[in-house]
Amino acid sequence: MKNYRHIFFDLDRTLWDFEANSLITLQEIFENRKLTSFGIPDFDIFLKFYKTYNIQLWDLYKQGKVEKEYLSVERFDGTLRHFSIKNEELARKIAKDYVQISPTKTKLFPFVNEILTYLKEKYQLHIITNGFNEVQFVKLKNSRLDQFFTKVITSEMIGIQKPNPKIFEYALSEANAASNESIMIGDDQKTDIIGAQNFGMDQVFVDYNFEALICNPSYRIHHLKELEGLL
Ligand SMILES: [Mg+2]
Repeated sequence: MKNYRHIFFDLDRTLWDFEANSLITLQEIFENRKLTSFGIPDFDIFLKFYKTYNIQLWDLYKQGKVEKEYLSVERFDGTLRHFSIKNEELARKIAKDYVQISPTKTKLFPFVNEILTYLKEKYQLHIITNGFNEVQFVKLKNSRLDQFFTKVITSEMIGIQKPNPKIFEYALSEANAASNESIMIGDDQKTDIIGAQNFGMDQVFVDYNFEALICNPSYRIHHLKELEGLL
């Protein structure tokens, strides 16, 4: 175990429960926009189609086949069309609702506050996140996570995303940290773990879903409380 001084956390799906917060948001929008009155039988049926279609669109986005702006509206427009609702204006409103409401939700993974309180006594804590400033800072503030972190680095700040080593280089230089005294903690093998590995810093893979390993992380945990035994 090295003498770590700086800990870099990923935000979405590591600390902030993206799936749970997204679900609460969609439920709220479904009710506020009265989507049953447009002919969608109920929320679960709406959600089932939306989820599948959203994943398909994200795959296209990752392949560079569609733009993010298209994805953000089309996932709702396509869902509405599936229920024979042709109303792009409504889809645009829902897309806007989603981006505004979702970051105000505050569901975190188990032990987040406890473990950050524990770690903050011993280390400097920072965030490296692939995301937009206006969304990620709202999340941190609303879920009261901002108090724990010295530096928050978003991919939007430098126009580079994890796993590109340049974002790690930038983050460590902002934090005045050396790679051999730093460790990255995240849920995504491709971006957080392989990215940090290629940059040359240790990593903790937060494996909530018991995934098949596609890399060889320095440490692997299944819930955040396990960090007490490591750090
Ligand atoms: Mg993540």
